[in-house]
Amino acid sequence: MGILSGKRALIVGVATERSIAWGIAEAMHAQGAELAFSYANDKLRERVEPLAHSIGSTLRMPLDVQLDDQIDAAFALLKREWGWLDILVHAVAFAPREALAGSFTASTTREAFRIAHDVSSYSFTALARGAAPLMADRAGALLTLSYLGAVRSLPSYNVMGLAKASLEANVRFLAADLGPQNIRVNAISAGPIKTLSAAGIGGFRKILAHVAQVSPLRRNVSTQDVGNAAAFLCSDMAAGVTGEILYVDNGFSTVGMSFADSAGD
Ligand code: NAD
Repeated sequence: MGILSGKRALIVGVATERSIAWGIAEAMHAQGAELAFSYANDKLRERVEPLAHSIGSTLRMPLDVQLDDQIDAAFALLKREWGWLDILVHAVAFAPREALAGSFTASTTREAFRIAHDVSSYSFTALARGAAPLMADRAGALLTLSYLGAVRSLPSYNVMGLAKASLEANVRFLAADLGPQNIRVNAISAGPIKTLSAAGIGGFRKILAHVAQVSPLRRNVSTQDVGNAAAFLCSDMAAGVTGEILYVDNGFSTVGMSFADSAGD
């Protein structure tokens, strides 16, 4: 018996086996959850199918979060096939590549701002609206993924930092709105991990090296680290936790200054 036995979860955001969403899926599967997966387009369907199959998941659906009719169709399918839902994992973000490098002021166009906020923040509200009716009379849990750029300026992260700030506010407003229906809403602010999306951020290798050097645990986090924290947050073990941003970053965000070799002299 795992901490998610008897729970059903929709995982949105698997692109490859390196995706944070896949680390979350593996952890939730290990804890006994039954999983459904969405894929953003036909190309990603080919990647998601074998991964889902490998853990015995049979429910898959197309879901581009910019398309309202696909959002409606995804929750209609879940209602038809499952009848109810306990957990929604939102691990989705996007900004045009040219906005994720160089000068923030120069690269943040109106269009890049619009796309980043639509895909990376508004979509969480839209998915919450679809999921909430399926969570009636259950202990529902919604989870999204944020990053330190929501609260600190960082090189290259640029407009995505603004979108993550919006996403974190989204977590608090959704938590207040859906709490009376016994639906909890939280985010994990993960440390940097080498994924497909991360590869689009300028200088990402340098960011990984810096974090491994100065974070208290002297390493980078893995998708397993994030997955295990996600399983906890979406389980009844975290029944009193909502509106929270949980840092899974080896303590990097807590350090004001660090001497890489810890000698300090
Ligand atoms: P990833 O590339 O594996 O996943 C990003 C996902 O977003 C992909 O599955 C992609 O299909 C999906 N996506 C993009 N546009 C979409 C759309 N219109 N409709 C539906 N899906 C769409 O990368 P990841 O790093 O696993 O990212 C997952 C989440 O974790 C993101 O929110 C990201 O910002 C966040 N995050 C990542 C890191 C990191 O360092 N990798 C750190 C903190 C937070």
